[in-house]
Amino acid sequence: MKSRVWTTIDFETAGIQSDFARVPYSSDTSAYGWLPVPMLCFKGEAGPTALLTAGTHGDEYEGQVALRRLARDLSTTKLNGRVIILPALNHPAVRAGRRNSPLDGGNLNRLFPGTSEGGPTAMIAHFVATELFPLADLVIDLHSGGSSLDYLPLALAHPGRSESEKHAVHRLLTSFAAPYSLLTDGAGGGAGTTLYAAAEQRGIPAITTELGRGATLWEAGLSIAEGGLRRVLRDYGLAPDIAVDEPAQSRFLQYQGPSASIYAPCDGLFEPLAKPGDCVEEGHIAGLIHPLDHALATPVELRFATRGIVAFRRFLTLTSTGDALFGLAAEPAKQ
Ligand code: ZN
Repeated sequence: MKSRVWTTIDFETAGIQSDFARVPYSSDTSAYGWLPVPMLCFKGEAGPTALLTAGTHGDEYEGQVALRRLARDLSTTKLNGRVIILPALNHPAVRAGRRNSPLDGGNLNRLFPGTSEGGPTAMIAHFVATELFPLADLVIDLHSGGSSLDYLPLALAHPGRSESEKHAVHRLLTSFAAPYSLLTDGAGGGAGTTLYAAAEQRGIPAITTELGRGATLWEAGLSIAEGGLRRVLRDYGLAPDIAVDEPAQSRFLQYQGPSASIYAPCDGLFEPLAKPGDCVEEGHIAGLIHPLDHALATPVELRFATRGIVAFRRFLTLTSTGDALFGLAAEPAKQ
């Protein structure tokens, strides 16, 4: 089914175009209107196409600001290729400062490949999957810890389904060069329903990021995002003259998945005793949960089930049974 989302941008036209992905939405006060998802297209000489997105979750800010800064710089940069930028992809969620859309509850990074006849969030996913992915040679979707998580600054990717895909994704992670690069199959997260997983399923090299914690803008995370984007645009020949910091080294890790994660066994107040970047051993204390209603009760002790490096911890203190409190990474197995 063809996307119902439309735009005035002609992706084949050279120069700079700014419009919206116009998402049809019929409300009490606007029967035939559309929701504006800001979209920019920069097209220069012949070359590859980069699709750059942020605001897939509305409460994650480093990528949203990095893409706006990059867009202003690209206005005066010679390009060999095309850069398509959507800095507020789930615009209703961005406007609300929330992870998910207030209009339909949709989590845009759990709805790929989307549907043309769904709610606005599913329609955005479907537009990206059917109209933008076919144009793209590489995809970067910028995320952060957001309201509920505190993350090691990293770029993530699925490992690739073939040797050539493995090589392509390794090249993209190495060029972006976040402090950590994490390979994952998506278990415990969005599995195949995320934007970058859907891009991988089309054979497009795709990475995502996790930068910072809480629903705020972390300066260091912003510069990691900006530096990574600039290195990729230079290294892939899109913007050969763009100003770039010296290449950073990235430490490659493997995400350990749900079996190594710690989930809240009960409701209460979460007191973490480990932080992202810590190296922990099996049996090492991870944190405590203080029961809400029994002030004299002994707190519940949480311990790591395996050794590893803390990739994330829960940022919010108030905790319910089932909340993800810690996730671990480890050195990749030797090839
Ligand atoms: Zn996110």
